[in-house]
Amino acid sequence: MNKIQLLSPRLANQIAAGEVVERPASVVKELLENALDAGATKLSLDIEEGGVQLIRIQDNGSGISKEDLPLALNRHATSKITNLEDLEGVATLGFRGEALASVSSVSRLTLSSGTEDQIHSWQVTTAGRDMTTSITPCAHPKGTTVEVKDLFFNTPARRKFLKTTKTEFSHLSEIVKRIALSHFEVQISLNHNQKAIYHLPPCTTAQLKEKRLAALLNNDFAKQSLFINAEASGLKLSGWVGLPTYNRSQADFQYFFVNGRPVKDRVVNHAVKQAYRDVLFHGRHAAFVLYLELDPKLVDVNVHPTKHEVRFRESRLVHDFLFHHLHRIIGEIRPKNDQISPTSLHSRETAPELHSTNSMDFQHRMPLMPGNESSTNFNQTSQKYNSTYQIQERQIDVQLKSMPYLANSETQKEIAGQMGYAIAQLHGIYILAQNENGLILVDMHAAHERITYEKLKTAFDQQSLQAQPLLIPVSLEVTPIQAETIELHHTDINQFGFELTVLSENSATIRRVPAFLHHADPKPLVLDLLNDLAEHQSSLAVKGVRDDILATMACHGSVRAKRILTIPEMNALLREMEITERSDQCNHGRPTWIQLSMNQLDKLFLRGQ
Ligand code: ADP
Ligand code: MG
Repeated sequence: MNKIQLLSPRLANQIAAGEVVERPASVVKELLENALDAGATKLSLDIEEGGVQLIRIQDNGSGISKEDLPLALNRHATSKITNLEDLEGVATLGFRGEALASVSSVSRLTLSSGTEDQIHSWQVTTAGRDMTTSITPCAHPKGTTVEVKDLFFNTPARRKFLKTTKTEFSHLSEIVKRIALSHFEVQISLNHNQKAIYHLPPCTTAQLKEKRLAALLNNDFAKQSLFINAEASGLKLSGWVGLPTYNRSQADFQYFFVNGRPVKDRVVNHAVKQAYRDVLFHGRHAAFVLYLELDPKLVDVNVHPTKHEVRFRESRLVHDFLFHHLHRIIGEIRPKNDQISPTSLHSRETAPELHSTNSMDFQHRMPLMPGNESSTNFNQTSQKYNSTYQIQERQIDVQLKSMPYLANSETQKEIAGQMGYAIAQLHGIYILAQNENGLILVDMHAAHERITYEKLKTAFDQQSLQAQPLLIPVSLEVTPIQAETIELHHTDINQFGFELTVLSENSATIRRVPAFLHHADPKPLVLDLLNDLAEHQSSLAVKGVRDDILATMACHGSVRAKRILTIPEMNALLREMEITERSDQCNHGRPTWIQLSMNQLDKLFLRGQ
């Protein structure tokens, strides 16, 4: 055993850098956050070679005084918190006091700064194992410039992991984009290899903000979205909610900020997905730019070194608040005459109790006297309903025929269990079935999705998810980040029954897909898979992540609405439901079927009252 020694400050910082400084983009994130914490209203970024050669960021913030300059480069030195209570309600973006020290330990960093009350400005650099600082005077207006050259020049192992200039720059500009979307009041310019990428003036009016959105995202988004502004129980939600018709094949247009910090969060994701669930076709993704503000004490940001994950103290409250307001605004987009939509029949909040629905509840929502008006409504509704489901999605012909229990209807009546036997299909969406108690309505897609999901979980756990080679490999256009995800998660991807090869930064090939999904359109399927994987970069071991991915696959592999089923197929589905665990709720937590008892039906028709 060797003698225990203290690590040199540089080595200690390099180890810490392993956590926060992964690539040029992470440096930019830390530096921009520092500038914003210093109250800057003007940021200019000069980048060379994707940030590997140079990152120079100048701000007009408060600056750093001469005495503080060397401290700023010290590990565990911060001006932002002084005690544990501060940590519990951090309002600044930074607080760990290690970014500058880490970056400076793995690059050639120069920090120059001027403050209001100093005549001279000063510049500091570090050198050697001990990271001794040296200060010299320099010319600098009020504010700070950080220059980072030759990132990872002294940590070759790290440097090896860097990708091409193009990939690194796309990660980097994504960071700038998020900062620009969350700080409209700040002027931002970004140059890459001396070429202007963005020049964004400060935005004071709604019009200017929409202009910035157009510059950063695309021209249509603002026009294709509604602005939301809601406040309740200490939570405030604002931002742009994309119209359901403005959906995308990927979840690449989803920006969510919590107290000005971009976050990826399962609670948030779930609430948003649920809110769009009725109006978005499966496999399509909503677009939104949303801002949640709440008391910093109610959200823990010290969960992850790079702070892109948060933990809400009251996650249920946050979830319900988001769902409620988004669901409401999305509901308002529907035509006014849409009275017989699934949402008006049972609002999401009450959905899980529907099995025991009391008839009074139903009477409220159903017209008691079907007059002329409501029958025209019904026609309009069904037309609209059909078109909602016609979104250029390929219909997947799932092999329901492979289900056991395909039998003729006479035998069905005999073997029918709790779910009864099928009598008809309604608008290609619901199965109507009859059992001893009365009528059963089954949401066909939701039910099949649940069954598929449960089967997938079992198959995955038994490692029996079969992959099937595609007759003709399908080529797929990807972003550099997606190409990277494929390489990074190669083994996981195989485990889920896929085989993908990266050809270049912008293209990949799909060679195998899970056998049961061979009817599905492979492109959207793989893009969704990559999206799920990218969302959970570091934590793939977590069971919830596996479930998310399997749920995505189940969704792609389930019968679509509008698929006409034969009576035996419907019965087969009902039998499957009886033997599938948790089949009364779909993967999104909504009911897959409801029962209307004879009693409830009688009450609807005022029979025997
Ligand atoms: P943290 O942001 O977690 O406090 P950093 O290592 O990023 O830690 O920065 C250390 C300190 O240096 C900050 O607390 C702040 O006082 C100062 N600092 C860093 N960058 C700037 C800047 N652009 N303008 C003003 N002060 C800065
Ligand atoms: Mg910082």
